[in-house]
Amino acid sequence: MIVVFLGPPGSGKGTQAKGLSRQLGLVHISTGDLLREAVRKGTELGKRAREYMERGELVPDSLMIALIEEVMPQEGGFILDGFPRTVMQALALEEMLKKHGKELDKVVLFELPEGVVVDRLSGRLTCQGCGAVYHVKYNPPKEEGICDLCGSKLVQREDDKEEVVRRRYKVYKEQTQPLVEFYRGRNILTSLDAGQSLEEVSRRLLEVLKNGG
Ligand code: ADP
Ligand code: AMP
Repeated sequence: MIVVFLGPPGSGKGTQAKGLSRQLGLVHISTGDLLREAVRKGTELGKRAREYMERGELVPDSLMIALIEEVMPQEGGFILDGFPRTVMQALALEEMLKKHGKELDKVVLFELPEGVVVDRLSGRLTCQGCGAVYHVKYNPPKEEGICDLCGSKLVQREDDKEEVVRRRYKVYKEQTQPLVEFYRGRNILTSLDAGQSLEEVSRRLLEVLKNGG
């Protein structure tokens, strides 16, 4: 199964993809995680992507499409989390899959209003070591500031500061939201209310992925 998680920043795509990929045996591909790793390692991609990410803008399509081409698994299913984010990326993805005799099975839209986005992201804590995601109120670690999974320090992402969050939401509305109509037109879009509890969103997601809705 090949699935895309679509939705504004902070809507829970990464959190759900991390849990679900284990449960369903799917590879989790988060372009945000891959870019942050590239920035940390100081690779060519990291150097080119860094400024866009700090400003809360999208990294150019050409870089993102090349990245997905490089990491897309040859065998088995996967969840794309954070890609595509523009119509150009969506078209490139279709081409790429077609070339390998595959197609996208499903797109899940995580719906969340702007007010909740800010609340979610201003409380998000990310593990410096393994990238696990927590929330100070909604999903706190067992020990304050420390990752339950690997024991590394939890930090606030630079782009989770409020002014950058507002910019990211605006970029989502302008450049990524058109994909909702794009995938509706392909008849593979299902939306879910991402404002529910973590458990409720997981339950609904499993229903959508296992039974088609
Ligand atoms: P995205 O990958 O879509 O940007 P995340 O999965 O990182 O979003 O979630 C953003 C923040 O919201 C994190 O701090 C996460 O712990 C929290 N979160 C995710 N889903 C829920 C939920 N259903 N209810 C409350 N908080 C949530
Ligand atoms: P995320 O972790 O998904 O919130 O992504 C963090 C940042 O990485 C975004 O604000 C963008 O700057 C960049 N990014 C991630 N995925 C993409 C993409 N598909 N296209 C362009 N930029 C991206």
